[in-house]
Amino acid sequence: MDAIVKQYLQTYGISEAAQRFLSKAQKMFIGGAWVDGSDGASAEVTEPSTEGLLTHIPMGTVADLDRAVAAAREQFDGGEWSALKPAERERLLQRLADLIELNAHELAEIESIDMGKSVSQALEVDIQGTIDTFRYFAGWATKIHGRTAEPSLPGNYLAYTRKEPVGVVGIIVPWNFPLQTMAWKLGAALATGCTVVVKPAELTSLSALRFAELVQEAGIPDGVINIVTGRGSVVGAAMATHAGIDKLSFTGSTPVGITVGKTAMDQMKRLTLELGGKSAVIVREDADIKAAAQAVANGVFFNSGQVCDAGTRAYIHRSIYAQFLEELIAYTRTLKVAPGLDAECFISPLVSAQQQARVLEYIEAGKQEGAEVAYGGQAVTGPGYFVEPTIFANCRNDMRIVQEEIFGPVLVTAPFDEDDEAVELANDSLFGLAAALYSNDLGRVHSLIPRLRAGSVYVNAHSTIDPCMPFGGYKQSGFGKDLGAEQLDYLLETKAVWITLP
Ligand code: NAD
Repeated sequence: MDAIVKQYLQTYGISEAAQRFLSKAQKMFIGGAWVDGSDGASAEVTEPSTEGLLTHIPMGTVADLDRAVAAAREQFDGGEWSALKPAERERLLQRLADLIELNAHELAEIESIDMGKSVSQALEVDIQGTIDTFRYFAGWATKIHGRTAEPSLPGNYLAYTRKEPVGVVGIIVPWNFPLQTMAWKLGAALATGCTVVVKPAELTSLSALRFAELVQEAGIPDGVINIVTGRGSVVGAAMATHAGIDKLSFTGSTPVGITVGKTAMDQMKRLTLELGGKSAVIVREDADIKAAAQAVANGVFFNSGQVCDAGTRAYIHRSIYAQFLEELIAYTRTLKVAPGLDAECFISPLVSAQQQARVLEYIEAGKQEGAEVAYGGQAVTGPGYFVEPTIFANCRNDMRIVQEEIFGPVLVTAPFDEDDEAVELANDSLFGLAAALYSNDLGRVHSLIPRLRAGSVYVNAHSTIDPCMPFGGYKQSGFGKDLGAEQLDYLLETKAVWITLP
């Protein structure tokens, strides 16, 4: 660990538990054993607020993946896990949730130090969301069943359906909500009786490894959950082709999702793809301007804009455009730009130097295309991969900053005159993850909701996410759903059983 990182951790005073975890040699978790990669390779982990070396993680190989899949297969195809009653799976999921709750503070610290995000937001959103997800799906374990039918065929039959777990699930997750995204996929998989192999993002694997310690402590049988750290191009790509994986559940960018999805289809793997977004926000003239401006800023700048459903394109009625921008800027000014461990940090550093460079390039592209910088627009002097929260005014829909996913604290705005125009602008995107409407006219709101081509529509708020509601995109934002009862359909096969009766 570099001196600058040690100094940072000392300044903010992290827990002894987090210190213990961060100072030990990190290993992968395969078949209940803690192991290095088969070729001994590892990668450096950089702390984003200081740009210093934090630790190393093993870089798994295809051989490591093979061992993880074999362990998961053994448990699924007749191991201890396959024999567990639903109520026992429920109890284990609840125990896991209890342990996460008990260690919530430490997990939030690890997530903040690894990814750069605000520790307070990590506790409130990432860790609480993880706990809630396991508790929600624990409840489902005992409520999965088929149905009986009454065939009209001549003869006498008992016809019924069985819901059966899809098998070994390969889970690939990104770096923006490392633990929570993994939990979204794990909760339903375990509730239905599947076993899993997880590949965390190479930038943010630490919370998954700490989580694996809790998996052991909870008494979940060895091999049910395996964590293989490593590169997407090696471990991730091999997951898409692995014959021992029945379903691939991927969250990440649209280009990688398309590649992974095509490969997985060669073997007819079941698929969930949760991909990129460029979510539109419509602010009507009857909205509460101040409240809407604050919600729009929170909806785009939370997690420094590294949020798949961030409301990154705001279309605002022309009659309130100037006043709305004023409120937006005034509120954005109050958002504290600070290192992730600062309890009041709202705008944290971006995850990596590469992500910072990408966001700054987009900001330059926006300026060159003629968008007006109404606020921000620069990197913050380091150390740390900070970018100022940035607001562009008077954008056109054909600009790259309006069409492409930036994944940083950048909001593009434009005025509109009629609802029809706002809907057209909002839907003019390859993506369709989410949309938000700000209005106090209930009738207009209800008439606009069906016209928005997006998987979630938020009204007078942004990113209100709870495990009881499905999450997933339209268009190139993916297919399949995480969360909600809907997710279970993507982890279950339906078997039709016909019994000829005398
Ligand atoms: P990414 O696509 O680069 O990587 C995502 C994961 O895929 C990582 O674990 C990576 O190692 C792995 N990967 C990379 N190349 C691979 C390959 N060839 N084969 C298999 N796996 C491979 O995405 P990212 O930069 O980590 O995350 C940001 C993206 O994730 C954004 O586009 C964001 O919108 C999206 N995202 C979507 C959701 C959602 O629910 N829709 C949620 C969070 C993030």
